[in-house]
Amino acid sequence: MGLATYARKRDFSSTPEPARGGRRGGRIFVVQLHHASHRHFDFRLELDGVLKSWAVPKGPSFDPAVKRLAMEVEDHPIAYATFEGDIPKGNYGAGHVDVFDSGTWEAIGDARTGLAAGELKFVLHGDVLRGSWVLVRTRRQGSKQQWLLIKHQDAYAGERDADAFVDPKTDRPIALAQRRKVWAGPRRRDRARRPRPPAAA
Ligand code: MN
Repeated sequence: MGLATYARKRDFSSTPEPARGGRRGGRIFVVQLHHASHRHFDFRLELDGVLKSWAVPKGPSFDPAVKRLAMEVEDHPIAYATFEGDIPKGNYGAGHVDVFDSGTWEAIGDARTGLAAGELKFVLHGDVLRGSWVLVRTRRQGSKQQWLLIKHQDAYAGERDADAFVDPKTDRPIALAQRRKVWAGPRRRDRARRPRPPAAA
């Protein structure tokens, strides 16, 4: 896809979003909480010099039974992974953006083949999002492609979803130290529900 669509939608003289840039060659992922006209989470995976991007209205769920709609959107520059702030009114995606989670990812199998086939399996190493996930393409609608983001059953599966890591009063991600605490200190009933880690495969 490249960055042409990304650039066409934006006027970099009036939005603080990066036009380009960022260090290539890694496998970073980022999730941003974006208070645009419709609140959503942006899920981004670095591949081939860009961030492949999906808008996930309800945010990722850690429950393998819950499939979250993920609308494929335009590739973003790698520099976008650290973007936080306000996109001013009148601009595409106007509203506040916070980084919700970041880290690295690894494809299970070949990422390009998986993307093309509409089934991309991967492991996330973030502060919030961890373990094994899949994106499954369900429908092509012209330029809008619809996918589902689904957690696989593993040691990180559970009934939580992304909003467990968001302050309900401010609707901003809770502090990183607190995000880590949510994982480190599950309530007793969460612990009872949490499946045992799978045997090494
Ligand atoms: Mn967005």
